[in-house]
Amino acid sequence: MKFKPSRPPSGYPLDCAKDSRNYQGYRARSASTIKMSLRSLRACMICSIVQPQAKFSREGCPNCEEFLELRHNGDAIAEATSSVFEGLITLADPENSWVAKWQRLQGYAPGTYAVKVVGVLPEEVIAAAENAGIKYIPRDGSGEVEQ
Ligand SMILES: [Zn+2]
Repeated sequence: MKFKPSRPPSGYPLDCAKDSRNYQGYRARSASTIKMSLRSLRACMICSIVQPQAKFSREGCPNCEEFLELRHNGDAIAEATSSVFEGLITLADPENSWVAKWQRLQGYAPGTYAVKVVGVLPEEVIAAAENAGIKYIPRDGSGEVEQ
């Protein structure tokens, strides 16, 4: 029996069939949990809330509906929300949460938010947000440089 601990403990033990099965089981489990909900999820590019597309269509964005007018408007949803996002966080109490402060989400509705939303907002959407008194900060990571 050859056992060569050639990798650090955090590495995936390639030589071991039994562990490999466990690993696959783990992968399958987490993948199916995500698959269930991720397919039609979209993130608002203004506030970064993540909702199923159907909910955006039915109820609009809980934070930005006033100026985005996403309700029953597939084009607006396509423009102002993105299906490419990372890092979900759940906000139960946006007023008092340090995560909310850190993500600049204070004052927003409780819900699930993405840490990063990738997408380009059309000029007129940015203008509409600014008219509504919202300072649009790109949430794709490009606005995080200055500090
Ligand atoms: Zn929004």
